[in-house]
Order: sequence, then structure tokens, then C-alpha cells
Amino acid sequence: MTFDLIVRGASLPDGRRGIDIAARDGRIVAMEPRIAAEARVVVAAQGRLVAPPFVDSHFHMDATLSLGLPRLNQSGTLLEGIALWGELKPLLTHEAVVERALRYCDLAVAQGLLAVRSHVDVCDDRLLAVEALLDVKKRVAPYLELQLVAFPQDGYFRSPTAVANLKRALDMGVDVVGGIPHFERTMVDGAASVKALCEIAAERGLMIDLHCDESDDPLSRHIETLASEAKRLRLGARATGSHLTSMHSMDNYYVSKLLPLIAESGVNAIANPLINITLQGRHDTYPRRRGLTRIAEMRALGVAVALGQDCVMDPWYGLGGADMLDVAHMAVHAAPMTSREAIRWSFDAVTEIPARILGLKGYGLAVGCNADMVVLQAADPIEAVRLRAARLAVIRRGEVLARTPERRTNLSLPGRPATLDPADYAPKA
Ligand SMILES: [Zn+2]
Repeated sequence: MTFDLIVRGASLPDGRRGIDIAARDGRIVAMEPRIAAEARVVVAAQGRLVAPPFVDSHFHMDATLSLGLPRLNQSGTLLEGIALWGELKPLLTHEAVVERALRYCDLAVAQGLLAVRSHVDVCDDRLLAVEALLDVKKRVAPYLELQLVAFPQDGYFRSPTAVANLKRALDMGVDVVGGIPHFERTMVDGAASVKALCEIAAERGLMIDLHCDESDDPLSRHIETLASEAKRLRLGARATGSHLTSMHSMDNYYVSKLLPLIAESGVNAIANPLINITLQGRHDTYPRRRGLTRIAEMRALGVAVALGQDCVMDPWYGLGGADMLDVAHMAVHAAPMTSREAIRWSFDAVTEIPARILGLKGYGLAVGCNADMVVLQAADPIEAVRLRAARLAVIRRGEVLARTPERRTNLSLPGRPATLDPADYAPKA
């Protein structure tokens, strides 16, 4: 029997070791030790971790790689970022947005990131970014799944044409309803926007993912409205609240009522630790708030929490590199959540959990799933997070899309080993 591809000697995220994974016609058709068959392509995992691909559940691909255009964010705040993006928007061209997005997707594939939910700003009557990212979505479809969210960056009600533009964007084929209630003029307008946007999602049978309470304001309560509307309209896990940073600053008594409401509603949460550890707390002196949402507390109640990247080299964040392990690593530190169980969870929060939130079909490492996987220079998921491990091979539908050489150092130290593999430092089980 001949397969298209066999990955030999994989360690799996669930702890199984020495597993061969065989693929045919884009799907995983066998997973067991020592498969006695040939394949057109053989990838030797040699005990390295083989995981399903990374998934970024929160990103802005229309702004990515625009750092410095037309100027840099001096205050480091969300609000200056939004103002700066407003300055850049009229200068955007279709070609430039497409080119930056395609370059970003090259980087994503190199990092084993094969599915991205990207918000796309609809507060530009030309809908230039929407057209550009719909074009990108088609062009990258052979190697990366791009899901788009119609995002009224300047406010669904606050921006004069956003209501019409959001509808136009959905009609053009944008997948998910977006919003930004904390940027509306008043708390009341914000709540009204959540209600209106949830009704659009319900009417159209779409998913909804709102930027929600991305501030240090302890009284920002839009996640409460989102959970309540999701319950009323039976949106359940089709609804997601992104950021939720005000929850960091909320009164504990109020949170003790809010969290069960979120759990009851089935709404998902997406935290974006890289960006929110830098954007939040900017109006504080000391102590400075970290502005990460209450990840551990939501998890404890069974809320699906994923970790997103949000920004890479744009008006809001000057760093980043399509590395979802970097995102998990920051979450572990910033939360902080350093138990072995929580670090292990952070790996799922950039793979399986966001795959479920996005509704990806055929995702996972099991017979019958898409033959999509990443070989990492690490022994297990915790080690992958610790090392932000190199992606040795990135495979999609049984084809190798990217290879990176192992990170290995030649040492010249008297009486010490001549070469060093950082993954060799894994704790002995
Ligand atoms: Zn965002």
C-alpha cells in the first residue's frame, strides 16, 4: 500500500509516542506505531511533537505590517492606535493591503499557523479593505483558511455609514458579524449596538465576534449584554467576546454574577495577551493594571477561552511574528498561570479551542481529519510553549508547505558537548 505522506515517530499532544501518521487524498487515513507501507513523502519526526496546526482566533489582517505608516503610536494606547489607523485608511490601496496580507500569510504558514479569523474594518465607504481581504481569502485558500469579521472600527452607531457598510460587507461574503461597543459614544449606545449586531447574526445565521470591553473601565459591561442577547437569541457558541479586559478591573462581587451568566450563555472568550499587556494600564501610575481578562476563572466555569494574536506590526503593536506559541507564552506569564495543567492548556488555546470557536471542519489529529499538522522541535506541548519551538515541518492536506532547519548550536567549550539542541532540556518524565 502506498500513501501520499507518512510522518514517522511522532509524539502527540495527548502523550502517545512513537506514532506514524499516514495521509492520502488530503486526509489522515492511519495513525499507529510503525505503519508498514511506503509513501511518496516521508517526514521523520523522530520523537518530536506533532500537533494540529495553530489557529489565530483574533487578528487584523488589513492593518498588519503597516508599522510606521503614516507615523508611530506615541502614547501606546488603543485610542491613539484607532486615530492613527484613521489617518492611514484614506491612504490605503487595494494592492498594498493585498501585498502586506500575502506577506503576512507567508510568515503565518512558516510558523504553522494555518487558520486565521481576521477582523476587517468596514468604516470606509469604499470598503477597500473588505474587497482586498476577500481577494486575499481566495488567493490563500490553497494553504491558509481565512475567516473574515465585518468590524466597524469607528463604532457601529458612532460612524455615520457603518450600519449600511456592515450590511454591505456581509452581502459581499464576509463571514462573521463584528462590533466595538466600548467605542460607541455612550454605554447605552454600546449596549444598543450589541443588541442590533446580535440580531443581525441571528437573522443571517452567522457567527458574531465582538471587541468587547477593551478598556480598563471597571464599569464597562458589554460582555453582560452580549451574554444576555446570545442567550435570548439562542446564539450560544456562535457568539464570542474578544478582549474583555475591563473584567480585569471589575469589582469581584459583580464578576461573581457575570461569570456564571457567560457560562450559561455559551459565549466564547478570546484573550489577546501580547497586545493587551501593552495597551492596558496606560492611564495608571502604579500599581499598573495588566489588563488581561480573567482567564482562569472563566475556564473554571467551563467557558471556552482561546488566545489570539490581534496585531503584528501595526498602529497598535509594533512587535509580533505570527507565532502563536509567543501568544501562549505571554498569557502564561501575564495571567499568571504557571501550573503544568495551565501551561498545557495554553497550547490548546492556540490550537484546538480556537478551531472549535471558528467552526473549522476536519480539524484535529485523528483518522478522517484533514492531514494538517506541524512538527515542532519540542518533546511535548509544555516544552513547545517554553521554547516557542521551531516549526520543523508544516503540512497541509498531506503536502509539506514549509520546512525550517532544527535550531542547534555548535559549542566550543572545554570538556563540554560540541552541539546543543535546546529541546534536549525537557524535564525527564
Ligand atoms: Zn482586535
